[in-house]
Amino acid sequence: MLDETLCLHAGYEPENGAPGVMPICQSTTYRFDSTEHIGDLFDMPTAHMYSRFSNPTVEAVEKKIAALEGGAGAMCTSSGQAASLLSILNLCSAGDSFISASTIYGGTVNLFSVTLKRFGIECIFVDADADEETIEKAFKENTKAVFGETIANPALAVLDIEKFARIAHKKGVPFIVDNTFATPVLCKPICFGADIVIHSTTKYMDGHALQVGGVIVDSGNFDWTKGNWPDFCEPDESYHGVTYTRDFGRSAYIAKARMQLMRDFGCYPAAHSAFLLNIGLETLPLRMERYCQNGLAVAKYFAASPKIESVSYSALPGDRYYPLAQKYLPKGSCGVVSVIIGGGKKNAVRFMDGLRLACNEVHVADIRTCVLHPASATHRQLTDEQLIAAGVQPGLIRFSTGLENIADILSDIEQSLKNV
Ligand SMILES: *Cc1c(COP(=O)(O)O)cnc(C)c1O
Repeated sequence: MLDETLCLHAGYEPENGAPGVMPICQSTTYRFDSTEHIGDLFDMPTAHMYSRFSNPTVEAVEKKIAALEGGAGAMCTSSGQAASLLSILNLCSAGDSFISASTIYGGTVNLFSVTLKRFGIECIFVDADADEETIEKAFKENTKAVFGETIANPALAVLDIEKFARIAHKKGVPFIVDNTFATPVLCKPICFGADIVIHSTTKYMDGHALQVGGVIVDSGNFDWTKGNWPDFCEPDESYHGVTYTRDFGRSAYIAKARMQLMRDFGCYPAAHSAFLLNIGLETLPLRMERYCQNGLAVAKYFAASPKIESVSYSALPGDRYYPLAQKYLPKGSCGVVSVIIGGGKKNAVRFMDGLRLACNEVHVADIRTCVLHPASATHRQLTDEQLIAAGVQPGLIRFSTGLENIADILSDIEQSLKNV
């Protein structure tokens, strides 16, 4: 089935007489008729046991997102940050390292470079546009994964997914892609060799700015039996001797993430959040189409203005990432446009504060047009060096085009540009 159909039907198939809309199973517990049955579940969780790590409503959404990404399984998390964290912790322990593109979301940079470091896990940042040999040189003996973002937030750099997949696989490690901005509607990284896909579902997937959430999708394609992956191929003593590759086959990664990490960290979304996320997902393909149209119109408008120093939008002919976007994002480059206003931070702030329709808020990829100044908000904790590596200039504005009528969005930009 194709995306529009999957978004409406995948994950929940009502039985005869059951509710047509996926119900909210607001329950922490599940009843069984014998002690023995519950004991068996502790050996092998074949049913929902406790809502810290699985729940029927959340499971339906997990199945829908796995189907959209073309994965073998998925696990929702209570935020995108939790998805990034668990995607790495499922592979790396203290003493290990992993490689990441430096053009990634500011919160992820901080998680990787500050917090994971305190847990003894090293992140080696690389220039995503460097050639394969240069990136390969960054690998160490203990490198266990490679990480990148399809459309980097906020630099809007498009990742050469196939290049990264090739490098990772040559080195025998899985490749994780944060596909938040593209969503599976615009790009399916698994088709280009990604092994794990993660999302902040807070953004386009939810779409309505209703709840924070994340998801990890397992492609099922990485062969853990080749190479040095004892945590996947040997019995897990913390789970009664379960062996993930033997017992879960293609879903080994996601089963391990749930049974070890979600069990211990407990960052699972509430059923009600999953219900809201599902409503967002139902219209995702329709909304993405319009975001791409409005985003392109806004990018063109900015590009024609003498007050704008530069525009980053990969669907704009002439953009540095246009050729990669033609390959990875043929349906469009989402609604987020980054612009650098002439006159630096002062003019950036003046322009943003003069907008009447677009909201000044800490959000992106919303149904309503919103703007953010990364250098003083999401990327504020980064050093100047990190800011440049992440593609964040002092005058950079992240303009997240919503679904309002494009004429209203453009006239708002026009009136505010008069202030600068
Ligand atoms: C927002 C965002 C995150 C973090 O997600 P939260 O849901 O805010 O925790 C991760 N990656 C990208 C690309 C994002 O835009």
